[in-house]
Amino acid sequence: MPRPSDTKPKRPARRIPAGATLRRQFVTCGRCPRLHGPYWYAFWWSKGATRSAYVGGDAAMERLLRDRGRSAFTVSDEAPVAPDVRS
Ligand SMILES: [Zn+2]
Repeated sequence: MPRPSDTKPKRPARRIPAGATLRRQFVTCGRCPRLHGPYWYAFWWSKGATRSAYVGGDAAMERLLRDRGRSAFTVSDEAPVAPDVRS
């Protein structure tokens, strides 16, 4: 018996609005202590809260910029941010 809820991404892809900031972050997978990435994430402000969406690696990032136009987004060139790692 398939259980689709097990395979669905935790956060479904959604439209990233113009004006979003794109930033690289390292991520943890929860299965090993290493950091993975960095991967690109989009951040924006909506209805009083910060929203974010996973973009992907450099190829996905380039595709997004090509599809939507580089001027639609603010690309952060800050160093990738590491998540808070619980010890
Ligand atoms: Zn891992």
